[in-house]
Formats: sequence, structure tokens, C-alpha cells
Amino acid sequence: MKTDIRPKRKPRSPHERLLMLTTIRGHNECWTWNGSKSKDGYGQFILSAAGERKGGKRVRVAPYRYMWEIYNGKPFPKGLEPDHTCNNRSCVNPRHIEPVTHSENQRRSYARGRKRPGRDYKVRVRPTHCPRGHEYTPENLRINNQGGMVCRACDSLSGKRQRLRRIGVLVTVDELFAETQKQRAEDPG
Ligand SMILES: [Zn+2]
Ligand SMILES: [Zn+2]
Repeated sequence: MKTDIRPKRKPRSPHERLLMLTTIRGHNECWTWNGSKSKDGYGQFILSAAGERKGGKRVRVAPYRYMWEIYNGKPFPKGLEPDHTCNNRSCVNPRHIEPVTHSENQRRSYARGRKRPGRDYKVRVRPTHCPRGHEYTPENLRINNQGGMVCRACDSLSGKRQRLRRIGVLVTVDELFAETQKQRAEDPG
């Protein structure tokens, strides 16, 4: 009979793992999170030890939030967001995390220099109509290989223009467009 002589070690608790992934410095210094991070630079921590929260399922939490809960001995206040008062996203020092409302969190991050969409930079909005005023309905809109928006109505006008060119009739797309507008005005519907 084979005997496993390796000592049975208790799986590490999330608390232990959290501390293992953190570089802890002085009380008021930033504590660096060395675990995985999301694309925007915030830490991610998986509470996976069996029995911990929600029946041992893989639960992803923000390590700075979890650290706050351990340090304060209570759940993070419902409806509030953790604000990094040090403005360092990878910091998990619970003294640098303050629960604030969403609007306060936004106000602070803008005050720290985050750009405001539509105010500090232009927000690109997809147009709803082509330059000639045709609506980009699902039927009228085509996306070309370059990702550009193509108006099928205008596209068919330029096709018509090319066919006319071949038989020697030189017109512009705008002239053809003006013609369709005129026809519309004369015969609506
Ligand atoms: Zn910090
Ligand atoms: Zn068009």
C-alpha cells in the first residue's frame, strides 16, 4: 500500500493568499497589489478556497475592497464605491480606500484629472443619416471592409452614375440625388 508521506497542509485562506500577493509597507504608504490586474489597472482577486462565500464558487473580488473589509471587520457599505484617495489603482492599503457615493467618486476622479467625455474630449457618435440625409436603417446601412458606413441609397446612385457614364451621359451623384428628391416631392409615397 502506497502511503503519501507529504504533510497534509490546510489550503490557504483567502486572507492569507491576499497578504501573500501584497507588498505591505508603512501604515500610510501605498501597499502594492502583485496579483492579477484588470485591463484598467485595478487588482483582481479570486476567493476560491472552499467554503468561502457563495458556497466555494470562484468569486472575483477587488483586493482593495476585500482588504478594507478585513481591516474594518465589516462588509463594504452597500451602495458606496471604494475611492482610492492615493489615486494609485494598484494600491490595497485599506487606509487609502474610502467608501464614497458614485457621484462623489466621479467628482473626485475628475478633480484628479480624469477626462470628461463630451467635455474634455469629443465623443464619436455614429451618425444616424448619410451626408445626403438618407437614414441609416439596417436595410440602408452597409459596413465596408474598412469599417466605414456606406449608404446603400447613395451607393446605388453612384452605380447609376457609372452606368450613365458608359453610355456617355455625364452626371454627378448629387445631380442624380437632386432628381430623386424632385421625384419624391412630386410623387410622395
Ligand atoms: Zn495608496
Ligand atoms: Zn445616402
